[in-house]
Amino acid sequence: MTTPAVSYWCEVLLVDGASVPGVRLGVGFDGRIHSREDHVRPEPGDVRLGTVLPGFGNAHSHAFHRALRGRTHDQGGDFWRWRESMYAAAHTLDPALYRRLATAVFAEMLVSGYTAVGEFHYLHHRADGTPYPQAHAMELALAGAAREVGIRLVLLDTIYLAGGIHRPLLPEQAGFGDGSAAGWLGRWAALRETIEADAAGRPHEPALVTLGAALHSVRAVPVESMREILAGLPADVPLHIHLSEQPQENADCVAAYGATPTEVLAGLGALRPRLSAVHATHLSDDDLRLLGANAVTVVMCPSTEADLGDGIGPARALAAAGAPIALGSDQNAVVDPFLEMRGLEMGERLASGSRGRFTPAELLQAASTNGYASLGLPGGVLVPGGPADLIEIDPQSLRTIGAHVEQLVLAATAADVRRVIVAGRLVADRGRLVGTPAATATPDGSPALLLRDALAALDDANRG
Ligand SMILES: [Zn+2]
Repeated sequence: MTTPAVSYWCEVLLVDGASVPGVRLGVGFDGRIHSREDHVRPEPGDVRLGTVLPGFGNAHSHAFHRALRGRTHDQGGDFWRWRESMYAAAHTLDPALYRRLATAVFAEMLVSGYTAVGEFHYLHHRADGTPYPQAHAMELALAGAAREVGIRLVLLDTIYLAGGIHRPLLPEQAGFGDGSAAGWLGRWAALRETIEADAAGRPHEPALVTLGAALHSVRAVPVESMREILAGLPADVPLHIHLSEQPQENADCVAAYGATPTEVLAGLGALRPRLSAVHATHLSDDDLRLLGANAVTVVMCPSTEADLGDGIGPARALAAAGAPIALGSDQNAVVDPFLEMRGLEMGERLASGSRGRFTPAELLQAASTNGYASLGLPGGVLVPGGPADLIEIDPQSLRTIGAHVEQLVLAATAADVRRVIVAGRLVADRGRLVGTPAATATPDGSPALLLRDALAALDDANRG
């Protein structure tokens, strides 16, 4: 599908904390913004939009966790109990089911205002650890799902080697492993060639899928293996890691290495601006200073951290120390960028007793610019050269009416997202997919129907 050259005229563009009236964005065949004019009237031929925001970057997702939504709240327990249910879901997925579920989940993200997603992916092999016959079958399932709905995907291919520090993988983790750092690096390099060859084979489409990398966590990747990965991975590749989500993870790390997970990463020279630390909920003062001083992005996942009882991470203190804050939907129990922005601010308010810990402009920046930057993508500021990824929201809904435009991010929800544009193409409109292969897969382009069918297929496979 080719992206047409098009011009969008925005009645109001909300960007960098300010609302700018009458903005025309010229978009080229490459899906990038070629020109921007502010304070202008619409011209014949412009596609007219209302209130427009930069598209949101979902910096941390595990698409398949969506299968657990609304199914674990009767189990009590904690993160570790929830993880048992998550592993059971993982075991049922094969490439076909994974693609189907991911297509539906990416569709839900797209209509909710996420124009890019970083998928933290470790379901590499069969549940017993043996490879699928087709190379990269699970990774290509995710890439195919993203192209089918038209969302931008950064596939954060994840190395996962151990079931705990100095412990082998548990049997239920066998499908996540690649045996060694060298094994993972070899598969990653081959996957990059495959993804680049695929993009080269679609010269008339903007490349929606790119490859990033992730270390699962300090508990799942031995220090020597992390050293090999850091030496073997190209310097321009975004790198993510789960960091200090649970107190137990910190205690195990200190017991084994005499250092916190952040200090272990610092010792490896891993704390660089290309690194994104996901969660960073339980930090020492030194951890906080290290992350900030090295401009490591911290990806907070407020809806998940609340759902799993992780705790409230020190987001404001991290931002003050120099760490950009981005946002992620993580387990996808909630897919709503507005609720993540609100969760970030409300967690701070509950913990601190004061309001306005993050300004609405800072929240918008976390959800858009910082999310994109965390994934190695330009974007967020809607200037020439950047991707034409934007969303239109309804400022006159039950939720938003009366709100100042600059404060809409604290009033709207995903239900207020209207048109969604990725790489210059219209891909969703008022909760429906449009213009992509996935849009024609259901009678009305409904992500709910895609999800219903994908979850039913997964339940069937579980019973079978
Ligand atoms: Zn995660």
